[in-house]
Amino acid sequence: MQVSLIFPPAEMVQRYYKEMIYLAARTCYSEKSPQQIWDDLLSDSVKPEKVHSLIEHVIDSGHHSTIEHINFSFAISGVSRALSHQLVRHRIGIAFDQQSQRYVKYKDPLYVTPPTIEQSEEASEEFERFRDLSEEVYNRFLKLGVPAEDARFVFPNAVTTNLIMTVNLRQLMHMAGLRLCTLAQWEIRQMFKLIRKEMMAVSPYFGKLLVPKCVPLGCCDEKRNEDEHCRIRPHRNTVFKVFEDYKAGRLVHASPKDAS
Ligand SMILES: Cc1cc2nc3c(=O)[nH]c(=O)nc-3n(C[C@H](O)[C@H](O)[C@H](O)COP(=O)(O)OP(=O)(O)OC[C@H]3O[C@@H](n4cnc5c(N)ncnc54)[C@H](O)[C@@H]3O)c2cc1C
Repeated sequence: MQVSLIFPPAEMVQRYYKEMIYLAARTCYSEKSPQQIWDDLLSDSVKPEKVHSLIEHVIDSGHHSTIEHINFSFAISGVSRALSHQLVRHRIGIAFDQQSQRYVKYKDPLYVTPPTIEQSEEASEEFERFRDLSEEVYNRFLKLGVPAEDARFVFPNAVTTNLIMTVNLRQLMHMAGLRLCTLAQWEIRQMFKLIRKEMMAVSPYFGKLLVPKCVPLGCCDEKRNEDEHCRIRPHRNTVFKVFEDYKAGRLVHASPKDAS
């Protein structure tokens, strides 16, 4: 799998992206026109700390229309169709273009092998056998004149695909919230770790905004984590229980060591 942030370049992110958010937020609260605010920003008459502090405020307070004004384009290659099917379920603030299995005739299809299959010799052999068979039937269909759009029906979910994804910061944070969660499917989670890495390389500020949803929420809301096997944040049941105990005066002091 390869993930590259292809646009904007780092210089553009560093010069204009926080400023764009500031512009959007400031337009809401200022008598000045957006043109005047932008001129102030470009002439460096607004201190970077002021820009930073306002964007921190709008992000923390959930005034998130302001962060829809900045977009990031990623080139994504070598991911499975199982992954891409999950990815394209995101509908808002995002655009995709994906390699077509109708127009591309695959001479040498590639596959993603899940680690759980790779770890077992027997499962790996079965996987290889199935891949070879589907490839063989695909090629036979093409020779018989079956169009690629129909021959592709024999490909497994494991076959790789390539996409371009352009997404605004609000939606990217939402997606990272879902897909960096330890309960997300492993391949898409891995992809979002790479997206985060790419973002960190151009801007640690924006990169650090890409976190599992429990981080800004302060607790985990996943039913499947009621046993708190993932300990990034406490489960909300625990938080509610502590709150109920607190309200009822039942809260006794316990050190973190006691709690474990
Ligand atoms: C761990 C996990 C397991 C999943 N399992 C399944 C599964 O088994 N089966 C399955 O079908 N899908 C599954 N999904 C996909 C999931 O149901 C969503 O379709 C997908 O995550 C897209 O997210 P979203 O709905 O937030 O849409 P986005 O397009 O990312 O939308 C962003 C936000 O905009 C708002 N929004 C978007 N569209 C509308 C609308 N039409 N009306 C009102 N508000 C809207 C919502 O607040 C939404 O959260 C799973 C996702 C995850 C993360």
